[in-house]
Amino acid sequence: MDDNATSPTAVTSRTYLVLSVVVIAIGTFIFDAITPSKFVIAVLYVGVVLLSARFLQTRGIVLVSFGCMALTLLAHFLTPYGDYLETISISNRVISLAAIGVAALLAVQSRSQEMILREQAGLLDLTHDTIFVRDMKDVITYWNRGAEELYGWKKAEAIGRISHHLMHTIFPQPLEAIMGELRRIGRWEGELVHTRKDGTQAIVASRWSLQKDAHDVPVAILETNNDISDRKRAEDALRESERRYRSIFRTAGVSIWEEDFSQIKAAIDELRAQGVEDFRAYFAAHPEFVRKSISCAKVVDVNDATVELFKAQSKDELLHSLDTVFTSETLEAFAGELIAVAEERPHFSAETNLQTLKGDKLTVLFAITFPPRPSRLDRVLVTITDITERKRAEEALHEAQAELAHVTRVTTMNALTSSIAHEVSQPLSAIVSNGYTGLRWLDRQPPNLEGARRKFEQMVGDGHRAGEVIGRVRALLKKTATVRECVDVTELIRDTAAVVHNEMLRNGILLRTELARELPPVVGDRVQVQQVLLNLMMNGIDAMKEVTERPRELWIRSYLDESGAVGVAVQDTGVGLDPNNVDRLFEAFYTTKPEGMGMGLAICHSIIKAHGGRLGASPNQPCGAVFEFSLPPQRDETAPAGNTRPMPVL
Ligand code: ADP
Repeated sequence: MDDNATSPTAVTSRTYLVLSVVVIAIGTFIFDAITPSKFVIAVLYVGVVLLSARFLQTRGIVLVSFGCMALTLLAHFLTPYGDYLETISISNRVISLAAIGVAALLAVQSRSQEMILREQAGLLDLTHDTIFVRDMKDVITYWNRGAEELYGWKKAEAIGRISHHLMHTIFPQPLEAIMGELRRIGRWEGELVHTRKDGTQAIVASRWSLQKDAHDVPVAILETNNDISDRKRAEDALRESERRYRSIFRTAGVSIWEEDFSQIKAAIDELRAQGVEDFRAYFAAHPEFVRKSISCAKVVDVNDATVELFKAQSKDELLHSLDTVFTSETLEAFAGELIAVAEERPHFSAETNLQTLKGDKLTVLFAITFPPRPSRLDRVLVTITDITERKRAEEALHEAQAELAHVTRVTTMNALTSSIAHEVSQPLSAIVSNGYTGLRWLDRQPPNLEGARRKFEQMVGDGHRAGEVIGRVRALLKKTATVRECVDVTELIRDTAAVVHNEMLRNGILLRTELARELPPVVGDRVQVQQVLLNLMMNGIDAMKEVTERPRELWIRSYLDESGAVGVAVQDTGVGLDPNNVDRLFEAFYTTKPEGMGMGLAICHSIIKAHGGRLGASPNQPCGAVFEFSLPPQRDETAPAGNTRPMPVL
């Protein structure tokens, strides 16, 4: 695990070491062999053994030792000596051999301890943590691979440097205080900012441990660092986002509620486990479940706008149950909310009524955002927008529009006064004349009872006819609230044609109809749709009044269009549309008639729009104009899907 062993510097120093060992060994041998035996020259082999231990493993050291011993013995036999010196020489050789042996033993021992240490140090390289050791003067003495990876300096670059200078350490508290704590309790933990070799900064969670010698004197500090820069950044971003969320939550102009729906979710999950699948049907059949669920929704927090909107003294008054702000009308919307939870929808919104803590009624639009799945729904955001004023304004606008529609109806009927008077007077004259005739039949001797009966029957028929005319006029003139009903368009066309019948006769206009059979009924307000028809027919009549050079014909067609809507076209052979002002036809107060109000088409347009239909105008061929409207047919249910609110007046 010794990286230095493979570096070029390490290779060079190793070569020097080997050379020195060889030179010393050879030198010692020559010197030993030529020197008189009374000197213990061979002891110098100890140096050879110790030096070889710097670069050889155990086996190598043993071999070198044996080599040195062999050279010692060889020198003994080569050395010239006299008999008197033999004893000294032998004892010197024995001492040398013993010294070489002891040196070899110590070298092998130290080598194996070093190997153990190296292995342990190698283990430190395996960890992802950054570990380095510095002495009490902060000089780095050990630098693991993790440190190399984190900081960018190699072992050789870091060892010997003062750690705090190298990494420009920024401490969370004065270094003296940290060292004081380290000396006192032997360890310290905290966050440091280090500068890497590339100049970037790393935030690390740092743990320091103090190493002491046998005399309890501090000798080194082991520093273990974990790079927490990413975590810190993520934490900071999270904190920032939480802070932003809180600030938006607190200061938002709309009322926001943070609610805990976990109990509701658990109850719904329980129902699902019991086999409930159609929650819509279940909640409709078990209103008590819906009512009970209101108290299961816990209000965790509300913002300032909520406190203000619900006229509370403080948010605490609202942090209990939703019961205080719910009304009987809220239950339906709340059931919708439960269905959204059961169907695991991400959002839900509805319009409903709530009440303030002072009991004032609020019309609100509330929207819920559920957290992404899987979630216990313990943090659900509900925003409530107060639309009470808007609703009131809308209602006032609808009332004003209805009033205006009524006024224009009355104005249209005014134009028909003489025609209507004529239409009523006709059956009345017939009644009078038939009455006289009937009386004469009775005065006869003998009375002609059969003839009188026929006349009286005609009188009843004429009376009904007059009554029908008046009934139709009254229906158009009456002022009623908007109703939704099934309207038979064919019947409505016939009724309206009857209203304008006399006016057309007076103006020499021929009414022609082409009505589709078995049209589906449309849903809407009968009087309003009739007003549209009446307006279009009256405009057609007006447009043909000046025409002399061609037949005056008013066509009314009904049909079912490709989308399934019921269409009606009113087509005339009048003066036609002014191409420069076609865009203005449906604008309020646009008129080309001296007595006109210019409200007729604008109101027709609003009525058709409010019924979900379309109204348009185009030139007729070869002359005149076509006004066409379409209305969506009735669906299975009486009300159009998704709209449970009353239809606007216009
Ligand atoms: P008014 O009848 O009081 O003028 P309307 O809104 O009903 O108000 O009509 C606006 C204008 O549209 C009319 O003045 C007329 O110029 C034009 N217009 C409506 N219907 C026809 C038609 N069938 N042919 C030609 N022009 C028409």
